[in-house]
Amino acid sequence: MALLITDECINCGACEPECPNTAIYEGGALWSLNGQTHEPIVNDYFYIVPDKCTECVGFYNEPQCMAVCPVDCIIKDPQHIESHDELLAKKEKLDLLER
Ligand code: SF4
Ligand code: SF4
Repeated sequence: MALLITDECINCGACEPECPNTAIYEGGALWSLNGQTHEPIVNDYFYIVPDKCTECVGFYNEPQCMAVCPVDCIIKDPQHIESHDELLAKKEKLDLLER
């Protein structure tokens, strides 16, 4: 499962530098993967790109963004349910690309 930032986000920016997959972007910012840029997913607050979030599997024992968020507005995304093995495979696929 990827994680999701809710609209309770206060735009503090604490989570973005903690993500080992560079899956977190400021609202309105273009996101990128393997040299290709894409339109923002959310405009008003920070967002997580589901294709880039591995729930920190392969790097850490717990999601780093959740650990630092001061308002606990990062949740599991019910639209993107993945097993541990699927998350690890996603991480290994990302390793071959330019995050
Ligand atoms: Fe990035 Fe990990 Fe948070 Fe996913 S759970 S957005 S990989 S810090
Ligand atoms: Fe928003 Fe939480 Fe990230 Fe701060 S740490 S930008 S409140 S999601």
